[in-house]
Amino acid sequence: MRSSQAALEALRALPCGALVLGVFTPGDGVHLVGGAVRDLLLERPPRELDLVVEGDVDAAALRLGGEVTAHDRFGTALVRTDGCAFDLVRARAESYAHPGALPDVRPGTLDEDLRRRDVTINAIALSLDGRLRAVDRALDDLRDGLLRVLHEASFVDDPTRVWRVARYAARLGFAVEERTRALAADADAATVSGDRLGAELRLALREPDPSAAFEALRALNPAYLPEGFDPRPRALAPALELLPDDGRADLLTLAACTAPMDVGALLRWLDDMGFTAPERDLVAAASRFVTGAPLRAATTNAEIARAARGAPVEAVALAGGDNARRWLDDLRHVRLEIDGRDLLAAGIAEGPEIGERLQRALDRRLDGEVSGREQELAAALADGPGRGSLSG
Ligand code: ATP
Ligand code: MG
Repeated sequence: MRSSQAALEALRALPCGALVLGVFTPGDGVHLVGGAVRDLLLERPPRELDLVVEGDVDAAALRLGGEVTAHDRFGTALVRTDGCAFDLVRARAESYAHPGALPDVRPGTLDEDLRRRDVTINAIALSLDGRLRAVDRALDDLRDGLLRVLHEASFVDDPTRVWRVARYAARLGFAVEERTRALAADADAATVSGDRLGAELRLALREPDPSAAFEALRALNPAYLPEGFDPRPRALAPALELLPDDGRADLLTLAACTAPMDVGALLRWLDDMGFTAPERDLVAAASRFVTGAPLRAATTNAEIARAARGAPVEAVALAGGDNARRWLDDLRHVRLEIDGRDLLAAGIAEGPEIGERLQRALDRRLDGEVSGREQELAAALADGPGRGSLSG
């Protein structure tokens, strides 16, 4: 583990860290806090820089320059400047009107601000002269690799912290301290809105190893995941490997994990977690495609296309196998040289028939039976479904 002075030097070595150190002096009451301090001390690259300000957040934001894009009633500001993004927060104390509520906030001291945080290793501030301020046991826990909440009511105040602990356990490879584990087991996710739990789920899906976060969460409190949810499905790793760049790894992961769930329960859960309708439908479609039998049974390009066409790439990746790879890498990009206008010009009436004929021609092109405009047009204009002329 780094010393605090070494952490300060590591901060200075980051372009965005140097910017902070150039703008503020140690007497300004601006401190680095939270995950960035934890990561610098652990010799890990911080993901973003969170700053706590004893005093006027607006003034501090202005001094950083750039664009102040977010601002809320809690006295927070998001500043973007020179390719850096800083989250500024007014040092504050928090209290909770009822379990799971958003906190009531009032200005507070730096120590109070550290005490409102989730786990000891996140309740450390690095002042710009390299001094650390931390809650009790924070540095020991960081050295020992332990996740510990700051007080007995932590998960009652904010049950989303169980998710946070699971993500840190997975990402950092830290153990969860025994009392914290007992408290997490008693936590009640039902007191929090689905949107807030969904936000935690989405963060977990963006972790380097989401399955590890789901496993950690299930070990802490199985009620945080719906019935049937499989944290580490076997189909996931090969599917991620197949997924093209235009696919969404987060939704594919979710689809794989939810494949064992009843579809009605899955749709209700995704709605509850605040996924948009297109995301929900994609996950549901992909999670059902996990069996993908017709795709695997296909023996010609046209059969592959008929099985995979219209399905999201995430679904095809989950179905897996050589045919899925062939579709994703190659076949799905194949286009005809002709289009609907050519068929209209040839006298075919507007309507679904145009699409059907084009598809027929495309299938024959995929199977190598036709090539070039003329043959494509002839294939599209040929009568009947034309299947008899397809190989296989
Ligand atoms: P990451 O590396 O995932 O960004 P982080 O620790 O920086 O980790 P953030 O979500 O960016 O996490 O939050 C910044 C800090 O704010 C945390 O370190 C923690 O101190 C505090 N915090 C965030 N969410 C909560 C919460 N629900 N309860 C208490 N403290 C929180
Ligand atoms: Mg952070």
